[in-house]
Amino acid sequence: MARGRWREILVAAGIPAVALDGLKGRPCPRCGGKDRFAPLKDFDQRGALLCRHCHHGSSDPRCGDGIAALRWWLGVDTAAALRWLSSFLGVVPGAHVPRVLVTVVSPQVTRSLSDDDRRRFELMARVFRANLKTDAERKVADDLRVSPDALRRLSVGWSPSHCATTWPMLDADGNVIGIRLRCPRTARKRAVVGSMAGLFFDPDSMSGDDPIDRLWIVEGPTDCAALLSIGLDVVGVPSAGGAADLVVALARRLLPRELVIVADGDDAGWRGAERLSDALMIVAQVRVITPPPGIKDSRAWVGAGVDSVGIERVADAAPIRRISLHGGASS
Ligand SMILES: [Zn+2]
Repeated sequence: MARGRWREILVAAGIPAVALDGLKGRPCPRCGGKDRFAPLKDFDQRGALLCRHCHHGSSDPRCGDGIAALRWWLGVDTAAALRWLSSFLGVVPGAHVPRVLVTVVSPQVTRSLSDDDRRRFELMARVFRANLKTDAERKVADDLRVSPDALRRLSVGWSPSHCATTWPMLDADGNVIGIRLRCPRTARKRAVVGSMAGLFFDPDSMSGDDPIDRLWIVEGPTDCAALLSIGLDVVGVPSAGGAADLVVALARRLLPRELVIVADGDDAGWRGAERLSDALMIVAQVRVITPPPGIKDSRAWVGAGVDSVGIERVADAAPIRRISLHGGASS
């Protein structure tokens, strides 16, 4: 049933279509490089892909056929790859309906900013940053119960005209694509007009030069500052489950061993984490945790005294997420 449909199947599993077009060498969608990756002959029929880095004599899976390609891409064993495939093809007794189980968000779909806008936001972020003098920075840090160093790493600044702290939002490569505003009195959130919703992270520590073991994902800029304060490699999303495309692109670039989503302890937080988890599972293994009962988010958790050892322990105990069968035929 899969023969002749491998392109459609592997794209549905999240491999960018451009990576499967033609037989010429190109960057590997999993490990990068320049020309190490290509579909093999009769790709639509057999689904075989070869990356000279990911596949070799002792790798598991080796390069072989479409099922090996699925195992490689999803990072699962043969049984799980076959479950996904049979579900996609509708090979389940009584329910012959193909369905896509993984919510895939292409990193390419980001709306775009003009070059002028990019330069404007980059400059704006620098100017705002320079407005926040050391004393004021200390006060903002104390109020939020995060470290001044975390604010510096996120290039937090001050906008006198908005009477708000400023938090640059980045694309997956660390370019400023918008600026979040936070009123220190009311905690009301806005963004500078024309902003795109982007990520909060320290572009220097996520340049890709140093390998990242666990990449932590939290909701919002202040939660991000909180986990930075206790020494974790963390990225903040603009809202629960938001900017999934950018997080996927960032994770693809950094290739951490594991992704840990810290969901806010409410329904919206958990639903967002599940959506994000489905999109990220194709990049690395994912765990989802929440703060203990009575603590609403990561920042409150850090404020309550959790350190990196304590929070790592909670993540260790959380199950590794599996591809979820949303109303799937097998349930
Ligand atoms: Zn590769």
